[in-house]
Amino acid sequence: MTAPHLPKALDGFCAAVGNTPLIRLRRLSEATGCEILGKAEFLNPGGSVKDRAALGIIEDAEAKGLLKPGGVVVEGTAGNTGIGLTQVAKAKGYRCIIVIPDDQSREKIDLLRALGAEVRTVPPAPYKEPGNYNKVAARVAEETPGAFWANQFDNTANADFHYRTTGPEIWEQTDGRVTAFAAAVGTGGTLNGTARYLKEKSPDVFTVCADPMGAAMWSWFTHGHLDIDDGDSIAEGIGQGRVTRNVEGTPVDKAYRVPDRILIETVYHLLNEEGLFLGTSCGINVAGAVRAALEKGKGQAVVTILCDGAQRYQSRLFNDEWLREKDLRPEHWSTARLVDEIAKL
Ligand code: PMP
Repeated sequence: MTAPHLPKALDGFCAAVGNTPLIRLRRLSEATGCEILGKAEFLNPGGSVKDRAALGIIEDAEAKGLLKPGGVVVEGTAGNTGIGLTQVAKAKGYRCIIVIPDDQSREKIDLLRALGAEVRTVPPAPYKEPGNYNKVAARVAEETPGAFWANQFDNTANADFHYRTTGPEIWEQTDGRVTAFAAAVGTGGTLNGTARYLKEKSPDVFTVCADPMGAAMWSWFTHGHLDIDDGDSIAEGIGQGRVTRNVEGTPVDKAYRVPDRILIETVYHLLNEEGLFLGTSCGINVAGAVRAALEKGKGQAVVTILCDGAQRYQSRLFNDEWLREKDLRPEHWSTARLVDEIAKL
């Protein structure tokens, strides 16, 4: 028996990045009368959506002659970009130095070390301070011979890769039926590149930023200023306080703020109703997609990003003691209750 629908062998790690499945979230689709579709980015070979940014940035640097054989890739990252960069670097024969805030989850720091990145942990510091992990990474790159600073926040090779891959894949996979797209912002690369592509294909596609508390993107896309960034979130990898170059020019129709209670109930819903074991930003993204579906009414095809798996957050997200401390133990809302609560956002 042959399986003619299966693709032929891919040429190594880099060729296996992207072309991820689109998964219909059945319960939330039924409850909203829409198709709620999750792009399974956790199935990328490095385990997250950031494999795309890593590959896009490294290939762009190679093409521009900024990264030469035997060179060093340096980045400040909360985790997933570092994981993707380290794996792409290994596949292509580069060294990788990763600067990471020391409040990030143990799993991600351990994984980076296991992958062979040179990991430098720094205390968390605001962007404007010289001790900020991103600023430290820039200095390390300057001081290291043959080094290239990936600069995922302001290097638009990041958003451009989503424009060239994530957007077209979603368009193809829905046969052009996609009517809305929702994503949270870390660097802004995913939302910018994908929303830009989809808007070009059809200006009617409703583009949504789903923002965690403590971030300023809701304020930016709603009011055009960064003044409102109150609250806090357990979400990792998202939550931006400034207009990065990858955020600039993102066509966003509507932004929603998603509190952690909704994040948690959504993540547990996805596990218990769909069997999907997904990370914190997926809770924000899927809630954003449901909110977009409710805004536009029945019959929509709403796509969002399932950024990574929950393994990377297991010691927090599925740890009763940690959840209790945060007052975030799941209440296991019914699907109807979850949708009702999201409707209030
Ligand atoms: N979710 C997770 C888990 C991430 O690591 C990131 C990237 N930091 C994002 C979402 C946001 O993606 P982007 O950087 O493209 O905005």
